[in-house]
Amino acid sequence: MANQIKDDVLAKINDHGIELIRFLYTDLSGQVRGKLSSAGTFAERSKTGIGLVKGMMAMNMLDKMQTDTGLGATGEVRLVPDLDTFRLVPYTRSSASVICDLVQLDHMGWSLCPRELLRRQLADANTLGFSIQAAFETEYMLGEYSQDGAYTPLDTNVCFGTDAMDRADAYYSDLYECLSRQGIQIEQIYPELGHGQHEISIKHASAMEACDRYLAVKESLRGLATAAGLFFTAAPKPFEDQPGNGCHLHLSIWDKEMKQNLTWSKEGDGLSDIARYFIAGLVSHLPALVSITCPSVNSYRRLKPKSWSSAYACWGYDNREAAVRVPSVYWGKEEESTNIEIKCVDSTINPHLAMAAVVASGLDGIMKKMEPPLPVAGDPADLSPDAMERHQVVRLPQSLDKALVELETDIYLMKMLGPELANVYITVKSSEVNAFALDSDFEYAQHRLRF
Ligand code: GLU
Ligand code: MG
Repeated sequence: MANQIKDDVLAKINDHGIELIRFLYTDLSGQVRGKLSSAGTFAERSKTGIGLVKGMMAMNMLDKMQTDTGLGATGEVRLVPDLDTFRLVPYTRSSASVICDLVQLDHMGWSLCPRELLRRQLADANTLGFSIQAAFETEYMLGEYSQDGAYTPLDTNVCFGTDAMDRADAYYSDLYECLSRQGIQIEQIYPELGHGQHEISIKHASAMEACDRYLAVKESLRGLATAAGLFFTAAPKPFEDQPGNGCHLHLSIWDKEMKQNLTWSKEGDGLSDIARYFIAGLVSHLPALVSITCPSVNSYRRLKPKSWSSAYACWGYDNREAAVRVPSVYWGKEEESTNIEIKCVDSTINPHLAMAAVVASGLDGIMKKMEPPLPVAGDPADLSPDAMERHQVVRLPQSLDKALVELETDIYLMKMLGPELANVYITVKSSEVNAFALDSDFEYAQHRLRF
C-alpha cells in the first residue's frame, strides 16, 4: 500500500513545529490506542506502517488480552495512516495525530479492522446510489479533584444553566480554539441536565469522516481536561444518581454526488420512502445493534425508561424517548436538516464499528423495502400492552450479555461482521461481562476512568 505523504501534511508538520505523530486506532473495547513516530521518520512510516501485534485487537477495556480468540503473542499487522485524518493535537507540546487502518502484511485489509468494515458498508451504500452523512453528539462530565482525590462536579446548576457556562467558560474557549485548529466546527455546546454534564455537537460530514472527527473531539475533550487538571468522563452512566452520557448519532442519506438529501420528501411528513425503509431496518435490528452501539456493561445502566436515552426499540417524530427519533427540521433548511437520530449510542463505542453496523442495518431495510412499525407519539414506557403490540414496541436488552445473545441470533449483522470479527468481538465483550459481574463499584470506577 503506497501512502504518498502529501505536501499539505508536510507543510503542517513544518509550520507548526510538529515533532511527534500519534498513529491511532480504536480497539474493539472502545479504547483509543496508538504509537508515535518522530516527524523525521513520518514520511517513511506512512509507507511502511508501524507494526502491531494482532493480539492487541483481543484486549478488553481492562487491558486483558483474550487469547482464547486465537490471537496472542504471534502475528502482526501494520498501522497504516489515513493521511486525510492528519490533525494537530493542540493540547500537546508538539504532537499531531493520524487515524490508522489495520493492514495485513500482504497489504490486504485485516478482517478485524473496523475502518475497513465501515469502508465496505459505505461501498455497498454507494453501489445502491447513496452516500451517508453523519455526526455524533457527545455528552460528557467535567469536575474538579479535591485534595483527597474525590471528584466534585464543575457545577451543580440546572440544565442549560448560565452558571455552568461560566464555570466551564475557560474550557469551552480552549475547546473552541483546539477544534478550530483541527478543522472541526462546533455546532452547539451547552451544559446538560447532570451536574458538570455538557454536550457538544459538530457539523456533519461523510460517515467515515464523522467517525474520525468524533475521535478527534473525544480525544480533545479529554486531553484538554487532563491539561487543565480537570476530571473528565464520557462513560454512559458514571454516577448512579446522575443522568447518563449519550453519544447520539445523526445520519442522513444523500445521493452519490451529495446534491440531494434523499432522506427528505417535500410531501407528507417530510420523510422519503428511502428514509422510512432505513428506519425500518434500524428498528428491526436494534435489539442486536445495541450490542455494538451501547457496547459496555455500563451502557445498560443508561438505557432506562424515562431517561431520554431510549429503552425501547421504536421510533417517533421529535420523541426523545424513542430509540430512533426523527427531529423536526429547521426553517428554510428543510431538505438539508432532515435526518434520523439514533439515541441508543454512547461513548464506549468503537465509532467505525458502530457506524458500520448502523449503516448495514439501515441498508437492509432499504434493500428489503421494509415498512417501519407505527411511530410512537408519547413515552413508550406508558403504552398499554395492546398499544405496545400495535406499535411493535419491544424493550431493548437490559444488559450487555443479553444484547450479545441478540447479536449472535441476528444472522444479517453476524454476516456483516464476518466470522473472525464476530468471534473476537463477542469474546472481548463477554470477558468484560464476566470481569464486572460481581462488583458494581469496580464497574462504575473503571468506566469513569477509561471513557
Ligand atoms: N443524557 C441523555 C442520554 O443519556 C440525552 C439527553 C438529550 O436528549 O440530549 O442519552
Ligand atoms: Mg443531550
